[in-house]
Amino acid sequence: MQTAEPRARKRADAIRGTETKGTAGTEKTSKAMELLKEGITRITTSEEFKRYLSFTRSFRKYSPNNTMLIFLQRPDATMVAGYRKWQEHGRQVKKGEKAIKVLAPVLRKVEDEETGEMVKKMVGFRDANVFAYESTEGEPLPAPPMTGRVEADASSAERLYSALSRVCEAEGVPVTEAELGPGHYGYHDPRSGRIVISSAIPEVSKATTLAHELCHYFLHPLHVSLTEDTGTKETEAEGASYAICGHFGIDTEAFSFPYIARHAEDPKTLQGVIGRIHEVVGKVLDYGVHEAAEIPDSGESSVAA
Ligand SMILES: [Zn+2]
Repeated sequence: MQTAEPRARKRADAIRGTETKGTAGTEKTSKAMELLKEGITRITTSEEFKRYLSFTRSFRKYSPNNTMLIFLQRPDATMVAGYRKWQEHGRQVKKGEKAIKVLAPVLRKVEDEETGEMVKKMVGFRDANVFAYESTEGEPLPAPPMTGRVEADASSAERLYSALSRVCEAEGVPVTEAELGPGHYGYHDPRSGRIVISSAIPEVSKATTLAHELCHYFLHPLHVSLTEDTGTKETEAEGASYAICGHFGIDTEAFSFPYIARHAEDPKTLQGVIGRIHEVVGKVLDYGVHEAAEIPDSGESSVAA
């Protein structure tokens, strides 16, 4: 479902307020980055988060063949692991539950013909039993940090949305709304260049999602998208979005912090991309967004830009 026609690319001179690229609102952005770093460190160093990480990392990925085997035997399985693996995580396979048969690689140490070193080599497969989460009971599984809903007044969200729409227009990035699956807020498609926002989410989320996707547009063109890992890309986009929204008086902490913690997994990931976040925030604000972000003194909802 489209609500806006793709617009022809035109330069942003009309709305670009200044040529001082990347300098607008630097101080405010730095302050936002400090808060963000504190928040991410707080989350990722908590016992709860460490437990969650060790849990997700200990579950091995299954090959496409095994995934198919699992699906054929137990279509409702949300997660599978061996009997002992479940016990390690405080869960027990219930009596009478049937195992799912998968193929496990058989590894053997053999001498490498060229180097003479002993290396592990796959020499075949054996049957292995795994059990679905649904077949087990016991301790609840560690959950990822949950994202919360961002609250903001309607006029701030409106000012943010229209300011960012103007940036998209100037950049020739079509923004459309569509019915996306549950839990999907929006996406930027580097191939077509378009940004799609879910039509089902609240207006405030539409504005913050547009900020996130616009940052992807600036940060992750196709050639970059293929080489960078998702964790870094999401950390950059949401980190920049958090700062941009902050300029409009919209505090997205409830969503941004858990989201970034989940993707970054480690405060170092965020630390490594602060420079890029500053760059893209400056780029967006330089499009005159900075002026639109100034909150009117009188408390009225008029747009200053
Ligand atoms: Zn994203």
